[in-house]
Amino acid sequence: MKVLVAVKRVVDYNVKVRPKADGSDVDIANVKMSINPFCEIAVEEAVRLKEKGVASEIVVVSMGPKQCQEQIRTALALGADRGIQVETDAELQPLAVAKCLKAIVEKEAPQLVILGKQSIDGDNNQTGQMLAALTGMGQGTFASEVNVEGESVKVTREIDGGLQTVELTLPAVVTTDLRLNEPRYASLPNIMKAKRKPLDVTTPEELGVDIAPRTKTLKVEPPAERQAGIKVADVAELVEKLKSEAKVI
Ligand code: AMP
Repeated sequence: MKVLVAVKRVVDYNVKVRPKADGSDVDIANVKMSINPFCEIAVEEAVRLKEKGVASEIVVVSMGPKQCQEQIRTALALGADRGIQVETDAELQPLAVAKCLKAIVEKEAPQLVILGKQSIDGDNNQTGQMLAALTGMGQGTFASEVNVEGESVKVTREIDGGLQTVELTLPAVVTTDLRLNEPRYASLPNIMKAKRKPLDVTTPEELGVDIAPRTKTLKVEPPAERQAGIKVADVAELVEKLKSEAKVI
């Protein structure tokens, strides 16, 4: 079974992001970039399926500027077999990504497509759902457990107050939640081997996809600075301040 995994290049989760001076976007100049954490979980799940003998090939795809080949190489070092980069310097919104993925799904015919549930930069949580809608595949989102059984996949989903298990006919789309697995680290020999694994480059134009943005970012601003707190002597003073200053009681 072929598994397609979508990995996004994002600002590393340890970086404190800052808006550009003109508030037009987040400033990513000289900032450490990494694989989106939920995509790392997607790669790990695909690799585990291969280790179990369920998956036979893992193809990893990333869309964006040339540098997203770094994230593809990382995924190859983690155990993916081959990479595809859809190269563009243009802004990519979830619908454009989903359309490019649809074109790749049509070429590659994977049985399972695994995406992260969300990219930590845009917090969109849209691409997997859009891909499922565009291709007509079933979707198992926010997966905390994935079991392929013959022609179907059982996905346990993290929902409010509990877990829900759905069964999807393959081919299907799965998006990963945090508790699905704990991704491994790439070993040095595997990082070296990954450099020789195949990586094809295509473009949205070659895929015949219109990636024009559908929404416009008006402003990006940091959260309001938190005010310093104060110490009160006793409960009476606290109640008084909540009444007269904070005016919440
Ligand atoms: P989003 O809908 O933006 O929150 O992203 C959800 C998931 O879609 C990500 O975790 C990735 O698996 C996939 N995805 C989004 N953007 C890209 C991209 N530019 N390249 C590859 N995969 C992407």
